[in-house]
Amino acid sequence: NDVLAGRALTKRFGQTVALAGVDMAVRPGEAVAIMGPSGSGKSTLLHCLAGIMRPDAGEVRLEGTRIDDMGERRRSALRRTRFGFVFQFGQLLPELPADENVALPLMLGGVTRAEAVRRAREWFAPLGLGGMEARRPGELSGGQAQRAAIARALVTKPAVVFADEPTGALDQTTGHDTMRLLVEATKHNGASLIVVTHDPGVAGWCDRTVEVRDGVLLAAGARA
Ligand code: ADP
Ligand code: ADP
Repeated sequence: NDVLAGRALTKRFGQTVALAGVDMAVRPGEAVAIMGPSGSGKSTLLHCLAGIMRPDAGEVRLEGTRIDDMGERRRSALRRTRFGFVFQFGQLLPELPADENVALPLMLGGVTRAEAVRRAREWFAPLGLGGMEARRPGELSGGQAQRAAIARALVTKPAVVFADEPTGALDQTTGHDTMRLLVEATKHNGASLIVVTHDPGVAGWCDRTVEVRDGVLLAAGARA
């Protein structure tokens, strides 16, 4: 009963073998951390699983249906409706208030602005953003902007959330708090989480950790 399963995934960039035949599957509601050294293939694996990048060989199935061989249009629609992304925090659009930023994925999916904003606002209090709805991203703290990005990733009620841990501007405590909130909020909503991280603390909050080395999955770890 895997929600998402990659099988024998291979990806090359010129002479570089970024993925050399990786199997990775995630169960409903499961949080999996992807660790490994820089350049080992973590982002490539994440992008292949998320339908952002097409593997050269192998396949990716979402709830049993192949998604890697879909055209860009269908994969794009699928990413919008079934997946949530928290790749780099600070991707909020600066000219839109926080609630409209969070509502954006719904509006792109055809929900009316009023309904999308109404649904978006329901996420603010639970994520500690009560009262921040009308603020522009520039008027939020770094941690608040991160939480808005989490809300935006979850607002469509995705099956799987993909996160590439931000290495950026935040102090360690705020970064930790945010990653913890991401893991908890994703679980609370019944979505699966696939998170690339260098932080053993973040991996510790997940059910399972896999390690990528030179495009190969080293340790599959114990399933929770
Ligand atoms: P990680 O996320 O673990 O740092 P990546 O998946 O980003 O690793 O990269 C794996 C390997 O593939 C690296 O050698 C990287 O330089 C190479 N690579 C990734 N993306 C590209 C690209 N678009 N063009 C060329 N090489 C790439
Ligand atoms: P990096 O870690 O290399 O700085 P990111 O992890 O931010 O880059 O993004 C990696 C790739 O994923 C980029 O090619 C970017 O265009 C794409 N990407 C980023 N965010 C999204 C998103 N929300 N939906 C689809 N693709 C995205």
